[in-house]
Amino acid sequence: SATLLTGSAPTRARFSFEVFPARSGAAALALGNSVQHLSAVGPDFISVTYGANGSNRDASIDLLTYLRNHTDALPLAHFTTVSETREQLKTQIHRIMDAGVHDFLALRGDPPHGLDEQSPEITGSLTSVELTELIAEVRAERPAFTSVGRTAVAAYPNGHPLSRSRSADIDWLIAKQEAGAQLAITQLFFRAEEYLSYVDEARRAGLTIPILPGLMPVSTSAQLRKVASLAGRPAPVELERAMEEAGGFAPELGVEHTIQLARELLAGGAPSIHLYTFNRHEQVLAVLEELKLLEA
Ligand code: FAD
Repeated sequence: SATLLTGSAPTRARFSFEVFPARSGAAALALGNSVQHLSAVGPDFISVTYGANGSNRDASIDLLTYLRNHTDALPLAHFTTVSETREQLKTQIHRIMDAGVHDFLALRGDPPHGLDEQSPEITGSLTSVELTELIAEVRAERPAFTSVGRTAVAAYPNGHPLSRSRSADIDWLIAKQEAGAQLAITQLFFRAEEYLSYVDEARRAGLTIPILPGLMPVSTSAQLRKVASLAGRPAPVELERAMEEAGGFAPELGVEHTIQLARELLAGGAPSIHLYTFNRHEQVLAVLEELKLLEA
């Protein structure tokens, strides 16, 4: 099922999903059901967020273990360095590998509540480049039969919040590639051109690894605002207005926008699409169905 990660040439565009650990027992039951639906359509991998929005890190490892033991999907672990020492990070990486999970998205991570980018705890954290090297170091320490797996990193088509320029962002992504990253996944964005021009510039600067566009079918006005803040660009006015006219809740509008965006990205050469599921399977499966990416 892991076409992209094993490097064989895909015959048609591929897809992958992102989920996050549930925050209650009821949410965990719903998520168990959703990941069964998601894994049934054969994604390249399902990624699990780590410590995002103050979520419990052990809960991420539990969810990765569930995916590993109870679905056919390849789990990919988001992993962050914030507030941890090198030794603590190594222990955690071993723990994740002991659970049978060898694919990582190496991140610095969001500052936890109460801290910001200037806090010494944040500026003193390992960067994603250093983490990519650390993961490789841990792999090398393990017996040959367990030192498999790939490392992905984050890419920011509209710039990292602290970035001065697009070329600085691309230089930073190239540093991630040089540290051993084999795959990049983008931050959310709304317009195909933002991704396509970024990839084009990155390629000209020497980037060779695949860059998967991250897409999320939004269901509510609140999600649309959240995505706009992550994307660093305003949401398309027509989408915002239609969502408000529908009373702030209209999953079909997010699905429609994502289908259109994915079509333009795939036509422009994107190798695959990475769908942020928001722990729901219905919308992302509707997108894939419409794009004819699901197996017959
Ligand atoms: P790094 O690449 O290590 O960057 C760290 C620091 O380097 C920055 O804060 C900045 O000081 C500097 N820097 C980076 N780029 C530039 C630049 N171009 N110019 C100047 N300075 C720069 N967070 C979580 O906590 N958990 C998750 O599970 C999670 N999943 C994510 C998944 C994806 C696909 C993406 C795109 C982001 C995710 N994040 C997650 C958020 C991410 O951790 C934050 O965006 C964080 O601010 C940066 O992480 P990074 O790995 O890109 O950092």
